[in-house]
Amino acid sequence: MEHQVSHRPPPRVLVFPLPAQGPVNSMLKLAELLALEGLYVTFLNTHFTHNRLLLHTDIQARFETYPGFLFKTISDGLPDDHPRSGDTIMEVIHSINSESKSIFKQLLLSNELGTSEGNPLVSCIIVDGIFGGFTTDIANELHIPIIHFRTFGACCIWVNMNIPNVIEAGELPVRGEEDMDRLIKNVPAMESFLRFRDLPSFCRASDLTDPNLQVFVQQTLHSPRAQAIILNTFEDLEGPILSRIRTLCPNIYSIGPLHMQLKRRLASKESSFQSSNSLFEVDRSCMTWLDAQPPKTVIYISFGSITVMKRNQLIEFWYGLVNSNIRFLWVARLDLVAGDGNHAQIPPELLEKTKDRGFIVGWAPQEEVLAHPAVGGFLTHSGWNSILESIVAAVPMICWPYFADQQVNSRFVSEVWKLGMDMKDVCDRKIIEKMLNDLMVERNEEFSKAANKMGRLARQSVHKGGSSYHNLDRLIEDIRLTSSGRFGRQVDIQINK
Ligand code: UDP
Repeated sequence: MEHQVSHRPPPRVLVFPLPAQGPVNSMLKLAELLALEGLYVTFLNTHFTHNRLLLHTDIQARFETYPGFLFKTISDGLPDDHPRSGDTIMEVIHSINSESKSIFKQLLLSNELGTSEGNPLVSCIIVDGIFGGFTTDIANELHIPIIHFRTFGACCIWVNMNIPNVIEAGELPVRGEEDMDRLIKNVPAMESFLRFRDLPSFCRASDLTDPNLQVFVQQTLHSPRAQAIILNTFEDLEGPILSRIRTLCPNIYSIGPLHMQLKRRLASKESSFQSSNSLFEVDRSCMTWLDAQPPKTVIYISFGSITVMKRNQLIEFWYGLVNSNIRFLWVARLDLVAGDGNHAQIPPELLEKTKDRGFIVGWAPQEEVLAHPAVGGFLTHSGWNSILESIVAAVPMICWPYFADQQVNSRFVSEVWKLGMDMKDVCDRKIIEKMLNDLMVERNEEFSKAANKMGRLARQSVHKGGSSYHNLDRLIEDIRLTSSGRFGRQVDIQINK
């Protein structure tokens, strides 16, 4: 990008993520991309999440190299001993939405988010859209442009945007288990394949005032109030859905896959690539184990940072794996199994049978694992980051969604993109064994072909000339215009109100 020579400091962007692994990971990558292109960035994290990042990564040293980059922290409003793990993440979201409005405003009015010698004031806010309501109120009040970053795919955002219509038409709430395969008619463009069971998990609530359902729907309704939306996706993957969203939010920057975009841009500036934004201790021993495995023989298993399963489900997965005879690398977080902790209670005969062809870690360097030649498949909870990372690495998937957007994502993986299979709502050793065999052997050619094609498109999108590359340049240019008060039409509309 060409910039006019100016003596003014670059604009300062405040980046405020949802404090959970997936969103923090992708928004740190965005923050790094903005910093790499010369913008000043203040990354606002909760105390808890920031301390975990400091413990497990080198972020402090890494980001110090970018002029004007600052980390600031705020409270999430919860007591110190709150677990903030697993699905208690919803309590964090509710707490921030209800407690943080005045702190957020005070911070923006103070000089604390910038540096006195650089640019002390924030000229643009990029916030996780799950906090879109209160942050947009304040941004409008203070006349600061605000962009909502949605860390879900466009497919789930479009579903969320239509949930009020689905409710209005009487398609929700669910009428019982026998209702789960009913097609949903009120999400345009998805009428032929979106079943009740594929709606975001919170739609399963029998009470439509359920706070988790409400927060997802209500916060999404704030999206059109933002100057723009950023999505970690690319046009070749979700172009038709993005066109639908543009009817409500015209200015969308689809700039993903962000991890690949960052890798590419760092390489072009001959900077080294450092990917870990982990809230967990990364165990790299699995890379040595992978080195010793034949090409495309290993299924990588990870259910992300939040999924919790029951012990009997864990045992079903184990039997499925044992019976399939397939090699595996499994990420088993200490809190993966509800109640009783880790794998200590796995029957010894199962462990014995897989000790030569299985490897377990507490947390893996996932992007590297997926790119390893030994990995031929991914059994995933279908979190959005995991899906993008799998697509870039051209690794086909079996999806076992846990919550939130994952139910929608897994339907798209199997029915729309044909990149794998959807095992939602099932946890049975026979089915697990069959799906593993299908993915890795019987139908491997079919899935690998589709995965290779989509992987190529993903990588092209972040090349110079690709859609995501272009959209990131456009985003940066538009943010620069904010400092001169010319951030597109919608700012003027807000300011003139
Ligand atoms: N991840 C990782 N190591 C692991 C498991 C996951 O680095 O062992 C990373 C993964 O690469 C992804 C993020 O954690 O970027 C998980 O995000 P996702 O959206 O897939 O799921 P979430 O954890 O938010 O449910």
